[in-house]
Amino acid sequence: MVGTILRGCLLLGAFLFVAGFTPYSQSLETFEPGPNQIMWVPSPNFNERIDINDVDTIVLHHTAGDHVGSVKWLMNPDSQVSCHFVVGKEGGIVQMVSLWRRAWHAGASLDAHGRQRVNDFSIGIEISNLGDGFDLYTPAQLEAVDKVIEMVMSQYNIRQIVSHEYIAEPQGRKNDPLNYPWERLQRFNVPLYYGRKPAPSPSPVILLPDRGF
Ligand SMILES: [Zn+2]
Repeated sequence: MVGTILRGCLLLGAFLFVAGFTPYSQSLETFEPGPNQIMWVPSPNFNERIDINDVDTIVLHHTAGDHVGSVKWLMNPDSQVSCHFVVGKEGGIVQMVSLWRRAWHAGASLDAHGRQRVNDFSIGIEISNLGDGFDLYTPAQLEAVDKVIEMVMSQYNIRQIVSHEYIAEPQGRKNDPLNYPWERLQRFNVPLYYGRKPAPSPSPVILLPDRGF
């Protein structure tokens, strides 16, 4: 247990170095530490991973709400949802769950390789956006998402980046992150899965429940 916590802290420390951490007292209220900078706001909504070596996937989401309200919801034990990172409009990064732990963001889910319970093997990144089709991702926000992906890929053997829309089951349950510019993620040289999955197979899987949105 203590070892896990220590390793988690070390990992976070590595990221602080990459991102260039500066503490801001005002960021405590707005959860906006500034472009490409990170603050730690713990969520109680997580459990232990089955095996940390299973992590090979990044899931992108939009929050479907304003940044402060979304972070507070993810901090609330009653919500039973969380993610590893939330990226605000100014490009500030809020980390809420250690990468060593299993955050609850995917819900009932199935990836392109037929694997369910995507929370088991993924890192969840929430991008603050109203999700109404009009709210735009900001350049600072897109850059910060890239930085988070870079950091995660430096620590884990990531083999795919997926949208919540793609993995959510049943299909059509989620549409996030809506209108995300996926082409900018091609530089990471891993398969990108977004939009809707192809039609389900003739013998559909029995859907396993899981925590998340
Ligand atoms: Zn989502």
